Amino acid sequence: MNTNSHDGDQIVAIDGPAGAGKSSVSRRVATALGFAFLDTGAMYRAATWRALRNGVALDAPEALTDSTRAMCLELTETDDGLRVVVDGEDVTDAIRTPEVTRAIYRLDQIPGVRRRLVELQREFGCRRPTVAEGRDIGTVVFPNARCKVYLDASLACRAGRRARELEARGIPVDLDALMEEIRDRDEKSMTRADSPLRRADDAALVDTTGMSLEEVVTRLVALARERL
Ligand code: C5P
Repeated sequence: MNTNSHDGDQIVAIDGPAGAGKSSVSRRVATALGFAFLDTGAMYRAATWRALRNGVALDAPEALTDSTRAMCLELTETDDGLRVVVDGEDVTDAIRTPEVTRAIYRLDQIPGVRRRLVELQREFGCRRPTVAEGRDIGTVVFPNARCKVYLDASLACRAGRRARELEARGIPVDLDALMEEIRDRDEKSMTRADSPLRRADDAALVDTTGMSLEEVVTRLVALARERL
């Protein structure tokens, strides 16, 4: 797949592991810069939700690729956050359930699924200046992005943030189990053959352990203004 120079000019690429604060930070950075916001994790979640809903076998790469290609996906930024609609059904909350989260790794390592979602991500990024967050944005989706950031934080800090997010949505949390799940997801993301999570050579590393959301946003907005 080719990327043209336009891809990199107006893209802020934010990667990092689960719970590093990517979503909340990226959304605010996008608002501060007047850019669109692209949550690519939501796209992997939507593809997974669709496969589960339609009973697609999770060990059938071709069927999962077909299902992803057939998905009609709408992502809309609202005052309440990102609204996700799949095939006409609002799945904003449904894509964040532990059931979906546990099944994502069955799809996220399938090249056909990734290719389709990367295609959609590039289309989105070519239309408007964009802050895109995920795990392969600076390495694969927008390798020419002029501003790349790798957000990280200690495992305990990331698990604590995820726990607060889940609790806010009324989902009960077992912190030890959550740490284990995040450790397992990190391992799977970093060791998969296709597009493993890693810091791009030209990405700024920002360790958000102990930093407030506002501090991280201020740091990233300054970085983006410097680099774009
Ligand atoms: O960021 P979020 O937790 O919503 O991402 C859900 C999952 O989607 C990740 O754990 C990862 O498995 C997958 N993902 C990916 N590539 C991306 C974004 C997310 O493989 N660019």
